[in-house]
Amino acid sequence: MPRTNHSTPLINQAIALYGGTFDPIHYGHLRPVEALSGLIGLKEVIWLPNNIPPHRPQPEASSQQRLEMVRLALEPYSSFKVDTRELEKPTPSYSIETLRDFRQEIGEKQPLAFIIGQDSLLSINTWHKWESLLDMCHLLVCARPGYQTHFESAQMQAWLEKHQTKQQEDIHCLPAGKIFLADTPLYNISATDIRARHKAGLDCHDLLPNSVENYIRQQQLYK
Ligand code: ATP
Repeated sequence: MPRTNHSTPLINQAIALYGGTFDPIHYGHLRPVEALSGLIGLKEVIWLPNNIPPHRPQPEASSQQRLEMVRLALEPYSSFKVDTRELEKPTPSYSIETLRDFRQEIGEKQPLAFIIGQDSLLSINTWHKWESLLDMCHLLVCARPGYQTHFESAQMQAWLEKHQTKQQEDIHCLPAGKIFLADTPLYNISATDIRARHKAGLDCHDLLPNSVENYIRQQQLYK
């Protein structure tokens, strides 16, 4: 893919996507992405709640409830947007297909990144057509406590080292193809733990925004 014109500023060019089940959205999603966005200088982060196909274990909250929680959590952030295309699809949400859709809309020169946590990086070779991901986007990886910082598999580690960049400018001046491991703050929070804490009647105010916590209570979720 061609490089963008170098006379344009090398910050705030890249658009990033961030997919997840968000059952519920929490500070382990919001804070690292906020830090990453500041660190890299992202133009926009588009949050994509996943549709879970009927044959997979279903989230506890409905699609509409997960979407509403994402909307509430993103309200304070002017550069964070939500996109419902995956939720509206009756078919599985394959990231590669969503990326293809975006790529068609934004053109082949626009720098595009996909944000994932370290746990997702370590299992990326289980994703549908994972080897084509870097043709479509960069990968921006947020640190996550409790997960190794390297692959067990020598082959996967070689793939990472081949594509890794430590130059954040690459994310803005190339349309796709690089992996950036970001030194984002660590939050030992998971949606699984939040659901379990709600079931046990434990407080979760430090783990997710008040607006989301109030919605969970009002909708009587995770009982
Ligand atoms: P669950 O516990 O239900 O599996 P989760 O908390 O891991 O959910 P998801 O919605 O499945 O959240 O994750 C979406 C993305 O967020 C993934 O790329 C995942 O790696 C990342 N992520 C989730 N929690 C954290 C965290 N605490 N720190 C960094 N990244 C995270």
